[in-house]
Amino acid sequence: MIIVLKPNSQRAQVTELLNWLDASGYEALLVPGDNNASLVSVDPDPKAMDLDLIHTFRIVDRLEDAKMDHIKTTRVHHPEDTVIGFFNTKIGGDNFCVIAGPSSIESKEQLNIIAPAIKQSGAGLLRGSTFQPGESDGEYLGLKEEGIRLLVEAREQFEIPVVTEILSVDHLRYYEDVDLIQVGARSMDNYELLKELGLCGKPILLKRGIHSTINDLLESAEFLMSRGNDQIILCERGVEAFETYTKNTLDLAAVPLLKKTTHLPVIVDPSHGTGLSGLVKPMSMAATAAGADGLMLEVHHKSDIALATGEESINVSAFDNIITAVAMIQPFAYKP
Ligand code: PEP
Ligand code: MN
Repeated sequence: MIIVLKPNSQRAQVTELLNWLDASGYEALLVPGDNNASLVSVDPDPKAMDLDLIHTFRIVDRLEDAKMDHIKTTRVHHPEDTVIGFFNTKIGGDNFCVIAGPSSIESKEQLNIIAPAIKQSGAGLLRGSTFQPGESDGEYLGLKEEGIRLLVEAREQFEIPVVTEILSVDHLRYYEDVDLIQVGARSMDNYELLKELGLCGKPILLKRGIHSTINDLLESAEFLMSRGNDQIILCERGVEAFETYTKNTLDLAAVPLLKKTTHLPVIVDPSHGTGLSGLVKPMSMAATAAGADGLMLEVHHKSDIALATGEESINVSAFDNIITAVAMIQPFAYKP
């Protein structure tokens, strides 16, 4: 639980509260909040009889039901939406941003078709795996550093920021010119990798793990932020459930829930979330209505010959159609 103190509380009174919490068996952590209103994170949650006593301290403004572990990600600590900027685009707050591109970077020719087309339709960032995780056995594993070189070349040529996934700390040196580093679903709880990314000074796109709870996702974000990186975008990309029609079960309830809980931008990836190109448009519309700050969509100029996950890729005209549909929904989207 978090105790929100009144703005400009006197130091002596704060110490009095902290001493009382300590003597009552609670671990208390004082953190600066916005508008000179400090926060006290209390662990474990105070017993009912202590809640009344806490309210008797005159510096206490209110109590919030947030976890100590989530002190950096919670809206209690940071009520304003975090906005992350790239050289010519933003995400978060009022900035809806669509990330689009192929599952895997395959060639210069491929990017020469896809990059200008998605930009023209309104995409804010170009995506594409280079160190590809291999979403199923025997799948294409990407062009690796050559793929990053092609992606960065497209960035310069078409003036669009780029995002690609990192699989290992050892590859970090290749990501210098990449605008946003993606941590994929299979790496969300690779804390060795997160440790370095927390220090790397670049924005991170953190995708929810296939078997991870919303709380696990927030804990990974908290871990990155506690190392000094406050430019984190969260991505709901579906979790494993018992359904077999779809590749994953897209948990759209995570969107309003995360938007209420955290100030970080939240995007949705309906391509991996369903694994079916025919579901990408309805799920993009639903994600937008649920309050997502953006989408990540796999777009390929010829999905039947895509080297990876063609079955979930849409073509450039379908992409354009989705952008138009979600733009109509945005004014009615849920806001916390
Ligand atoms: C991807 O975005 O290319 C990808 C592999 O996604 P995920 O990690 O969500 O499976
Ligand atoms: Mn894919």
